[in-house]
Amino acid sequence: MRVFAIPMRTRFRGVTLREGALVRGPAGWGEFSPFPEYGPAECARWLAAANEAADEGWPAPLRTRIPVNVTVPAVGPEAAHAIVAGSGCHTAKVKVAEPGQDEVDDLARVEAVRDALGPGGRVRVDANGAWSPDTAVRMIKALGELEYAEQPCATLGELADVRRRVDTPIAADESIRRAEDPLRVRAADAADVVVLKVQPLGGVRAALAVAEACGLPVVVSSAVETSVGLAAGLALAAALPELPYACGLGTLSLLEGDVVSEPLAAVDGVIEVRRPEVDEAALGRYEIDGEAWRRRAAAAAQAGAAR
Ligand SMILES: [Mg+2]
Repeated sequence: MRVFAIPMRTRFRGVTLREGALVRGPAGWGEFSPFPEYGPAECARWLAAANEAADEGWPAPLRTRIPVNVTVPAVGPEAAHAIVAGSGCHTAKVKVAEPGQDEVDDLARVEAVRDALGPGGRVRVDANGAWSPDTAVRMIKALGELEYAEQPCATLGELADVRRRVDTPIAADESIRRAEDPLRVRAADAADVVVLKVQPLGGVRAALAVAEACGLPVVVSSAVETSVGLAAGLALAAALPELPYACGLGTLSLLEGDVVSEPLAAVDGVIEVRRPEVDEAALGRYEIDGEAWRRRAAAAAQAGAAR
């Protein structure tokens, strides 16, 4: 097990350093990078995803190129415009409802993004569950044409309420943290789209099974991983029977560096489906002592075995 700590260019989930472990098996490299607050039971699924990558590999791809969105953090309109214009992407996900900011900030940011994308561009917003239903309805209507609104409110009941009151499709992200959650989302009529991530769901095959059981369109997203973890997300996106939306896999630019020599970075809004090897020199720049992560993986393995 090799352990990395890569500085983040922008603060994400309160972290400024992305840490994780890489495991090597007969099929290739796998990434185990649960966020710091996750306990052994939750980490067991993330470990299963890493082990699948290392031991088995993934189902055959149905496509070779995955369109991705650019993600615009809660920055001012000029910075938002520059991020989108420099990305080459045709779809942008704009963070909204940032604590400490006003609704006019969101409106200005989304307008700048729409301007930068030009005609034919698609805008989605992500509130990370921060709006009340009334605020969500008012803001979604005020923001103009959106591809979808991601997790406008925190609970399934609130999402269902908002979904009934607006024409804009609703996507569930934070509402999905384990395999049974997409079925709950569907049963509650809470969303039109589900955002799925490979590691929290326990691997590419597990995520494919979830997608099939749920029956809603899927947007594959990363957990802000290195190219080793992103390769698993690409494998999922490549194996889904339908892929109607750009995926949230263009996240490498959030990290200051990577552990491979040819990173899975988006070019003109697309990432090629491939599986890069870990590069010793690249990993060497970010490698840290692995003892804490070995203990974390052992606890996750124990929790997984006990289930
Ligand atoms: Mg989200």
